[in-house]
Amino acid sequence: MPLTILIIPLVLIIFVIAFILVRTSAFLRPSEPVEPIDLPEVDADFVAGHLAEAVRCETISSVEGTATSSDLGALRELRRVLEVQYPRVHATLEREIISDASLLYTWRGTNLDLPPVLFCAHLDVVPVDQGTLDQWVHPPFAGVIIDDYVWGRGSFDVKCQVIGLLEAAELLLKEDFRPERTICFGFGQDEEIGGEKGAKQIAAHLAERGDQLEAVLDEGGAITQGILPGIETPVAMIGIAEKGSLSLRIKAVANPGHSATPEKTTAIGILAKAITALESHPLPPRLDFMRIVYSALGGAASPRLQAAFANTWLFGGYLRNKLEANPTTNASIRTTTAVTMINGGIKDNLLPASAEAVANFRLLPGDTVEDLAEYCRLVINDPRVTVEPIPENAWEASPLTSPDSEAFQSLATTIRQVFPGAEVAPYVVLGATDARHYANLSGQVLRFTPLVATQDDLSRMHGINERVHVGSLARMVQFYMQLMNAWAGAGLESVKVEMPGETSEA
Ligand SMILES: [Zn+2]
Repeated sequence: MPLTILIIPLVLIIFVIAFILVRTSAFLRPSEPVEPIDLPEVDADFVAGHLAEAVRCETISSVEGTATSSDLGALRELRRVLEVQYPRVHATLEREIISDASLLYTWRGTNLDLPPVLFCAHLDVVPVDQGTLDQWVHPPFAGVIIDDYVWGRGSFDVKCQVIGLLEAAELLLKEDFRPERTICFGFGQDEEIGGEKGAKQIAAHLAERGDQLEAVLDEGGAITQGILPGIETPVAMIGIAEKGSLSLRIKAVANPGHSATPEKTTAIGILAKAITALESHPLPPRLDFMRIVYSALGGAASPRLQAAFANTWLFGGYLRNKLEANPTTNASIRTTTAVTMINGGIKDNLLPASAEAVANFRLLPGDTVEDLAEYCRLVINDPRVTVEPIPENAWEASPLTSPDSEAFQSLATTIRQVFPGAEVAPYVVLGATDARHYANLSGQVLRFTPLVATQDDLSRMHGINERVHVGSLARMVQFYMQLMNAWAGAGLESVKVEMPGETSEA
């Protein structure tokens, strides 16, 4: 009798362990081995000189209150700089100016039956906080090359990509390369303020001329090390979707009057309660997208994390706790809540009639703007408070591009060829990029920046002392040359554009 009491739990434990192990091995996708290739020769200093010159054009996009603006003079100057730097490109490719200053280049392929591919970047940069000027080692728009870095605002985000793409095309033209499939470059003028005049208009123009796109590649994840928990090797993160965004205006009203005879609470107190309610009811965490990341990384992840992601039925709680502890990984597993603006009251002895706040949410694919606004109303649950989306700051998460798609697979292969040792993982981009504007034109929209970057490099973007390594820049050119070769052939297989809500016929 005592023996059976011991045996039953033991068998159960063995069974559970076996189940965990079987699930873990089925979960991991081993990466295909890739033959190393000879990379074309690229003069790194020459490319760095081009980027430095582009940085000197102060193509700032800014927001003042609700008004947005781009520096059209600086954008024109940058356009002239590019014309001089890339004579072959400008002699061979068709270039159209879209809106005021966005650029669409078309490199006609030999087979016009093949839908074009589009490589994107943006020409604008964010402003420099004048209060931080004394902390810049080199002035932000001096465009200097020192200690193997090109320094300045926009060097990393993302003029390096504009230069990298045009440099690659110039070198390919020098070798008499002719693409079979048409290649387009779309450079927006205002990505940093939403892309309304840039990418959105380029997309409208392409749609008008009847172009469906085979694949789109925009800025996105870089090749980083030590940023993903439990992964030691460098990882190239390919964005297969990006989060949506919603800003809600939250307004509380109360009786105005003299502060000498107040009611129990004021409009400000009511608003404060509403904000507390939002912050204490974050949207529930979802592990599905991080699961995709770890599934692709396979054996590169620590065994503990491999087993945990393969068995979220058992370890879901552990993973959620671990990922919620860090703001970046937390943003990867849920629609985030951030109260960003507040306003109320005009004088110390007046009871305000109203008080307002703005909360910004970033939506994971699957959560919708409409449902989220309703969720916030339910959570606040106060008739004195109204909750309304700000229409110009509300858009849904993008559709997902499958990691099994031809474009993803071919991009992953090129990454492994040009950056040996890097693992590749699909992920959901946390911020917004121009790529979302092309979602209607292609079923294969990907977001990847071919740069090896440290946490330090990333923190300089939109911050101080932004810079890019000269060697990384040359590697970026080699990468684009290789990818243009791969994507401009007939090998890429078509994927139908699938909009959210549409179901594909099996
Ligand atoms: Zn950018």
